[in-house]
Amino acid sequence: MLRLSRFSFGVGDRFAHQASSQLRAFEKIRAQGIEVVPVWNKSNREHSFIGSEPSSVRAAAEQAVRESGWSLPWHTDADHIRLETVDRFLGSSDFFTIDVADSIGKQAPSDDVHRFLKHHPELFGTLHIKGIEESIFLSGDALEEIASKYLMAVQEAGRIFRYIEHKLGSGNFIAEVSMDETDLPQTPQELLVILAALADEGVALQTIAPKFTGRFNKGVDYVGDLDQFAKEFHEDLCVLAHAIERYGLPSNLKLSVHSGSDKFSIYPIIRQALAKSGAGLHIKTAGTTWLEELIGLSESGDEGVAFVREIYALALEQIGALTEPYASVIDIRMSELPDATEVASWDGPRWANTLRHIPSHPQYNSNVRQLLHVSFKLAAKKGTRYTDLLKKHSDVIGQNVFDNLYTRHMKPLFLG
Ligand SMILES: [Zn+2]
Repeated sequence: MLRLSRFSFGVGDRFAHQASSQLRAFEKIRAQGIEVVPVWNKSNREHSFIGSEPSSVRAAAEQAVRESGWSLPWHTDADHIRLETVDRFLGSSDFFTIDVADSIGKQAPSDDVHRFLKHHPELFGTLHIKGIEESIFLSGDALEEIASKYLMAVQEAGRIFRYIEHKLGSGNFIAEVSMDETDLPQTPQELLVILAALADEGVALQTIAPKFTGRFNKGVDYVGDLDQFAKEFHEDLCVLAHAIERYGLPSNLKLSVHSGSDKFSIYPIIRQALAKSGAGLHIKTAGTTWLEELIGLSESGDEGVAFVREIYALALEQIGALTEPYASVIDIRMSELPDATEVASWDGPRWANTLRHIPSHPQYNSNVRQLLHVSFKLAAKKGTRYTDLLKKHSDVIGQNVFDNLYTRHMKPLFLG
């Protein structure tokens, strides 16, 4: 069976030029004694915005792996796929993030709910889960409510899982179930019920991405109650360990954190929880590689700076359309976006400092960063003018990509 390693890290590479620089970060952390496996992820939405095919992700990763001599596993993730979008990924992905968030809250047929409740008497009442201090209590009504809310999503996960299994063969792919792109976080109790139901459906998932408490805005730090997150993360780990044992789910089943990138303030919490429990982790970041490209271009000289300025001016003009698909995961204060005349005088270092995610830097501006984060489409429209710049300035860009991934993410997350 294709098994996902204990630590895996999802990286995005929208324009498929940074796989080698990303891989260097994995090599460096490996040299420190921590094996972290790269997973290149790209969603159907990203492919359609950029006009790329899943095979390009595979090809870029393959080339980077070949050139570097990387000898640990690596994967390509069909990110947030559904039944209607999975087909184009079947030939080039070995990791499938099965997104069933849209089915959460759709009332499951009462026959299905009652069958589930009958099949799981162990979920009623007081439950002792190793590692959770206060025991979990689920009344009949509470359990029925959770089952009604999630059974449709679980059944959908089953349909997609079986479809992929039918196409690729059992054991030939890694399945993740994601429920993060929804309004409300899932509690540890809900996670337990969901896992029991997924086991019933025969979904051999190796990672699950719940929605955690707090805001996971794109490309900026976590906003929320850190103590609450720590408690929930710990309890989720306990619930997973329990579910593996109780329901026969894959023994390497682990949490997947769809971070939206750069959740620096929860990294120490995650690191300590993993060290204490011995659990694994899949962490998914994505779009910030494109921001490192802009930062590298800012540092590359006049031509690069002019390009960044041009993209920013366009982004301001089209801000409504660009931000609309991401409304629930960005918080841009319009009043803090400099206008096009103001940035006309900005030099390369000013742009780099504005965009680079060092919150303590006086020139850092999370509003500009978030706007450009969701504006990659504009660079895609520039076609080879953009990708030629990426090639021409690959050294300075690559250094930013590597440094961001290693210094700001892997080190705090795995080494401290
Ligand atoms: Zn996600």
